[in-house]
Amino acid sequence: MSADIATTDPVSSTTLVLVLNAGSSSLKYQLLEPESEKVFADGVAQRIGEESSSITHEQNGQSITRDRKLADHQEALEEMLSLFADNGTDLTTVGLTAVGHRVVHGGQMFYKPTVVDGDVINDIDKLSDLAPLHNPVALDGVRAMRKLLPDTPSVCVFDTAFFHNLPKEVSTYAIDREIAEEYSIRRYGFHGTSHQYVSGKVAEFLRRDVGDLNQIIMHLGNGASISAIRGGSPVETSMGLTPMEGLVMGTRSGDVDPGVLTHLARAAKMSSDDIDKMLNKQSGLKGLCGENDFRELSNKAAAGDEDAKLAYDVYIHRLRKYIGAYMLTLGRVDVITFTAGVGENASDVRADAMGHLAQFGIKIDPDRNAVRSKEPRKITTDDSGITVLVVPTNEELSIARQSVAAVEA
Ligand code: ADP
Repeated sequence: MSADIATTDPVSSTTLVLVLNAGSSSLKYQLLEPESEKVFADGVAQRIGEESSSITHEQNGQSITRDRKLADHQEALEEMLSLFADNGTDLTTVGLTAVGHRVVHGGQMFYKPTVVDGDVINDIDKLSDLAPLHNPVALDGVRAMRKLLPDTPSVCVFDTAFFHNLPKEVSTYAIDREIAEEYSIRRYGFHGTSHQYVSGKVAEFLRRDVGDLNQIIMHLGNGASISAIRGGSPVETSMGLTPMEGLVMGTRSGDVDPGVLTHLARAAKMSSDDIDKMLNKQSGLKGLCGENDFRELSNKAAAGDEDAKLAYDVYIHRLRKYIGAYMLTLGRVDVITFTAGVGENASDVRADAMGHLAQFGIKIDPDRNAVRSKEPRKITTDDSGITVLVVPTNEELSIARQSVAAVEA
């Protein structure tokens, strides 16, 4: 949890949104006022469904952690409501404008923030095959909030939405067309809320019209993706049918030869679930050196751990490969931006990803790159042909704004 939490009472606010982000065994939430960007409370429930689950809630300048078994997302939400109540905020009467839900996969059907009714729930449910770890738990959250707060509209905001109109040659896999159509196999792209929000912030920071800018954005968090955006519209992104394609991530492999999967199925007799688990949870940085947290990896590498050093090198190599490809895809690049936990904080990643690119017009200023800040900032020299920025993402704020717009439409 990194938001600055206001110490004033949320009751005095006019437009309040509760944003929920349900992961397979976690639930993050934030209560905020989108117009003023004020965050009143922030929380996370972890290890839902396990014996050792816990929930941490920050409000009124206090952080409370309760260690107790949360059997499912419904129980986590009930606990969240009770934590709000203990802090003097009754979510049933505080006057919420909307509950905004992050939904990972919108498939071909959902590409706009959508106010939820029974049909929407059924239609999102049908997409669960495409995102079995994420969509069902998001729907659990939607169902639970409709029960707990029946008078507050729920709005789904889809992680795939921004990439809905990727050019056909980008969204199409070169596989049997009939099979692809039957099983809705195409490149969808994810982290769309973040890429869209950050691309807008970049334009604001540079005082330019987003329509005039060609951008590359790197969202480097636990999950990681890169996008190429021409005039505000994405023309490439590294994630595909699922959030596994592309860059090396905390626990996900990113790109692998599809032959690896069939080889494992035959030679190691691994089932599709085994392979899914390995690629999703036991690969990426964790698979390479046992650490998925970038800070831990950096500490290990600095202490001379060879596996951690290799993991770092593989991570940077993949990133540079994509940056190069996206520079060519765009033809002209105005600005390249780093965001999310690693992108916003790891100056060594930024320096190494952008190093030795002077012949392509990129000159990093080491002093600017070393600055630690929560504000957007430039890290290139003033005579660099391409501007490189660090711009903090804020998916919750974006989801809250989109939720209010959908309710008011
Ligand atoms: P999520 O995808 O869960 O939203 P975040 O965007 O919060 O992830 O990014 C989490 C990652 O950012 C972790 O790997 C964490 O180690 C890394 N990170 C956070 N702070 C730093 C830092 N100061 N230096 C390097 N990495 C950092």
